[in-house]
Amino acid sequence: MRAGGGGAPGAAARELDLDAARARVREAGGEALLSRLEHLDAARRAAPGRAADRARPGPAPRAPDRGAAADYDVVIAGGGLSLLLAPLLAAAGLRVAVLDRARIGAAHREWNAGTAEIAALSASGLFAPAEVERLVVARYAEGLCRWHGGGTYPVRGVLDHAIDAAGLLAAARARAEALGVTLLDEHALVEHAEGPDAVALAVAEARAGAAIRGLSARLLVDARGAASPYATADLVCPTVGGVLTGLAEGDGERRIRPDVGEILATTEDVEEGRQHLWEAFPGRPGETTVYLFYYARAGDVGPGALLSLYGRFFRLLSRYKEGDARLVRPTFGFIPGWSRLSAAPRAPGRRVRLVGDAAARHSPLTFCGFGANVRELAATAADLARAVEDPGAPSTARDAPVHAGTGALAALMARPAGGARAGEMNALLDTAFAVLHAMGNDVYAALLRDEMQPADFVRFLRETAARRPEVYREVVGALPLRAIGRWGAGLVRELYRAR
Ligand SMILES: Cc1cc2nc3c(=O)[nH]c(=O)nc-3n(C[C@H](O)[C@H](O)[C@H](O)COP(=O)(O)OP(=O)(O)OC[C@H]3O[C@@H](n4cnc5c(N)ncnc54)[C@H](O)[C@@H]3O)c2cc1C
Repeated sequence: MRAGGGGAPGAAARELDLDAARARVREAGGEALLSRLEHLDAARRAAPGRAADRARPGPAPRAPDRGAAADYDVVIAGGGLSLLLAPLLAAAGLRVAVLDRARIGAAHREWNAGTAEIAALSASGLFAPAEVERLVVARYAEGLCRWHGGGTYPVRGVLDHAIDAAGLLAAARARAEALGVTLLDEHALVEHAEGPDAVALAVAEARAGAAIRGLSARLLVDARGAASPYATADLVCPTVGGVLTGLAEGDGERRIRPDVGEILATTEDVEEGRQHLWEAFPGRPGETTVYLFYYARAGDVGPGALLSLYGRFFRLLSRYKEGDARLVRPTFGFIPGWSRLSAAPRAPGRRVRLVGDAAARHSPLTFCGFGANVRELAATAADLARAVEDPGAPSTARDAPVHAGTGALAALMARPAGGARAGEMNALLDTAFAVLHAMGNDVYAALLRDEMQPADFVRFLRETAARRPEVYREVVGALPLRAIGRWGAGLVRELYRAR
């Protein structure tokens, strides 16, 4: 893959971009991965409450009668990261099935995480510490955030481990199988109907001509990620890229250092209405995971967004990093984000629980869903086990206090000003990160790890506004008054709780 250095292309060039992007994803990942990308892209068309997989006609499931027996205690629909829940539930003595429209545990992801997440993987009881250690393929001395036209801000103790995502999910799959979990590869959940004691599921097999079949569970766990019809979070982060070889190593902004993770970096101002961001995480020797992404309001991102972002990725990669880059493993997805300024995604019934990206309880600023879900893994499994017996039991998960503050910042980034003001986003980010850096590594790292205390967050806002008073106009211009009110109220609530 060779990347050029141009800016925004015209319509014909854009079509070429898309064809070339399609060909490159197919070449590196195969036909099945390309169709996974196209399915995700097409799913943006589905209206909320309608599953993207409801394409084939079939009988709608009938809600089970009171007292009806169920095939399983728990069915987990979606075998991505949430597959990790299956062996924990089975170990608690529950009858568990996992189904996925593709192969279960075949991640099209690469994950970076910090020490807390590494520890949580073994604390959950799922893996021994030595097994987790073997899944860490790289560690960094530091990470950095760098803004176009601004500075570079190093930070320690954040996203400083690269995890072998495929190895992690393969190990979880093996553990689930050993504990008797039923694994239904290439089975999509298309619909469900809830009764008082069980949920009936309509499931479509991927093979051509296969009929829709029925299953039932006492609890349905919706782990379909962004493709869930209940994934109604107001923000989304389209992300594309993957594992590359051939990037130039060494010092300098356009080279990779194997002991440094690039957490956030921009290479230009707002273009095509978006502030694009890059990240680069070295993995196994000679390999680096590079992503291009942007923050958007969920309603602003339509079908085809990932493929078109891949077009930009291939065209502009050389603006970010030098070298003879070759894509060896494409990874991509829409990561939902909930700003906390609007209603949270909600399950449609008492016997349905949303987990992972469908629930979007991770940070709306970093979108680190892997980290957030792994930290909560044992607690989530315990909540689900309780919900099988008592579907009305409230979840014990507590939202990290800092999310009450960061969602508004993400909402601000989701509709950046263009035209003559296209440089404002970088200027704001540069000021904000200069302030964080000056507040010290503990505070800076705490924000990126979802651990910042509300009082520190308010200090961070005040100091950013003192250095860049235009931020008041930018906030008022980007957010409706009601959202600003909710933001303020959320912050006051968390400040009060923290006292
Ligand atoms: C490219 C990329 C890189 C990322 N990197 C990081 C990182 O470095 N660190 C971090 O903390 N987080 C990262 N994340 C976020 C993290 O991957 C997600 O938060 C996490 O995977 C969410 O887990 P999940 O189980 O909810 O959904 P997913 O892991 O997305 O799994 C959803 C599954 O549902 C299946 N599915 C969809 N529709 C149906 C259906 N109808 N029936 C059955 N199955 C269905 C899909 O095939 C898929 O396997 C990244 C995300 C992306 C997209």
